[in-house]
Amino acid sequence: MGDCFETIADVEATPEEADRLGAEVLWWLVEQGIVMAEQTDCTLGGKGHRPGPNYAAATVEPWAGLHQLGTNGLRVVTGRTVFYSMGNVQVVCPRCGAVVVDDQDEDSWSEFSQVIKEWYAGGAGVRACKHCGEPLGLNDWAWSPPFGFGYLGFEFWNWPRLDADFVAAVSDRLGHRLVRPYGKI
Ligand SMILES: [Zn+2]
Repeated sequence: MGDCFETIADVEATPEEADRLGAEVLWWLVEQGIVMAEQTDCTLGGKGHRPGPNYAAATVEPWAGLHQLGTNGLRVVTGRTVFYSMGNVQVVCPRCGAVVVDDQDEDSWSEFSQVIKEWYAGGAGVRACKHCGEPLGLNDWAWSPPFGFGYLGFEFWNWPRLDADFVAAVSDRLGHRLVRPYGKI
């Protein structure tokens, strides 16, 4: 049995505002009883916040077993991060529809992973589409499943599916475009 994650990634927050926005949303989630205020060892990858008494309000369908899990927290991630999904990745040009990365084609992926490395190292990570020539940043491509490249994310570990209204409420508070990666490790 693996651990599942669902991430709300803000792909527009700047490095300067990520910490403040992350703290604001976390405080709001604590106030709503969605998560607990204290940090504990409850996510993969770092300390997090366990589900609060009202966590069900954030989910499509609550699941009583969540509180019993060791890994059941929310991790607020700040700093330059690749918010990834698991599964077969496909990357498509939003302008011409060309498939530039297909998981079945290892060469296309290894070529594109160089762009990700470049962005992660502090570069722009912009590439022209080979087919139509449109220069695109990493967040401009159509990723399936979703990937986000940014400085602020909220990783929910083993939670039931997040409710669309809840995600919309988080989006309102951030005022930015969100991407929703997910996967199972
Ligand atoms: Zn194109």
